[in-house]
Amino acid sequence: MTTPSNLALVPFVSVEHMMKLVQNLGLEAVLAGIAARIEADFRRWPEFDKSPRVAAHSRDGVIELMPTSDGAHYGFKYVNGHPKNTRSGRQTVTAFGLLADVATGYPVLLSEMTILTALRTAAMSALAARYLARPDSRVMAVIGNGAQCEFQARAFQEICGITTVRLFDIDPRATAKAMRNLADNGLTLVACDSATAAVAGADIVTTCTADKQFATVLGDNMVGAGMHLNAIGGDCPGKTELAREILHRADIFVEFPPQTRIEGEIQQLDPDHPVTELWQVFSGQASGRRDARAITLFDSVGFAIEDFSALCYIRSVLEETGTYARLDMLADPDDPRDLYGMLARAAAPDAVAQP
Ligand code: NAD
Repeated sequence: MTTPSNLALVPFVSVEHMMKLVQNLGLEAVLAGIAARIEADFRRWPEFDKSPRVAAHSRDGVIELMPTSDGAHYGFKYVNGHPKNTRSGRQTVTAFGLLADVATGYPVLLSEMTILTALRTAAMSALAARYLARPDSRVMAVIGNGAQCEFQARAFQEICGITTVRLFDIDPRATAKAMRNLADNGLTLVACDSATAAVAGADIVTTCTADKQFATVLGDNMVGAGMHLNAIGGDCPGKTELAREILHRADIFVEFPPQTRIEGEIQQLDPDHPVTELWQVFSGQASGRRDARAITLFDSVGFAIEDFSALCYIRSVLEETGTYARLDMLADPDDPRDLYGMLARAAAPDAVAQP
């Protein structure tokens, strides 16, 4: 048997490693680190290969591949979205992803991305809000208190200075879970019995519900002047959260228009309805909020560059945290052209290591 060389051993971050990594560094530092990396990567947007993600739709969900490259590294994420999964004890969204060296094509990181997706989605949401929400925003409503909810609340606390979170979910057990998880973090928490009650007095509203339909989680009369809306649950064809009328009153900001037109809230609008790309706001080429009375909307669907940034961040802290294993996932014959010989020698009863 041959022993794989270090070149062929791929750093692997399991779910357990990811949890330890966050514990070691602190959730605040990880959210801030991912946000900083996303911001830097969005500022060099033209350097990336970009395409809408490849989606395989089925009756109850979607499975998606999200690739991108900056010419030096290539990354992709596998992610699903199955709103009914929670009924059978599964997550709505699970993911894993990979980063590779473009020069050799060799993977340099394989990682769980279920936790990492929640971290990067929250970091991206809060980063967008830092440019779009009123700077004096202190109160956020979160509608939909499932897996993403607490990550969103903590990112907005850390990155935007939110001090109060008003929570609503159609399932009160989800709200109770979020209240428990968010206690003792310095946030004032308010459990609400309707979405209307939750948004009352909120400066920022995050919608993160999961339902495979055109839903109206936010009605037109619930959205007042000066609000920032962070709509993350409308991220698939036929799956939206906001009343169409809101979109006509809001200044709309998106990640990658060709993908958002298919998947975001703006699938409800004409294909030429004006939107602003966030990378242009982050790089100073477009303005964010016009004035204190404007309604701003981040029509979030989740874009491949955010996952690329998150993977690069995780890779950058691996040596410091030591939270990874090395996976024997690339065949590594001593003679690169003798793949067959490596297999044949391994099958021989008296197989011995090659010198
Ligand atoms: P989840 O299933 O864990 O939680 C969803 C919650 O929404 C549940 O508690 C459910 O009871 C609640 N809900 C459903 N309909 C509601 C309604 N009308 N009003 C109030 N609450 C309602 O899902 P999750 O992992 O938290 O994901 C939430 C959504 O965010 C999903 O739609 C997912 O696809 C999306 N998502 C988007 C991104 C992105 O980058 N934009 C990233 C991750 C997840």
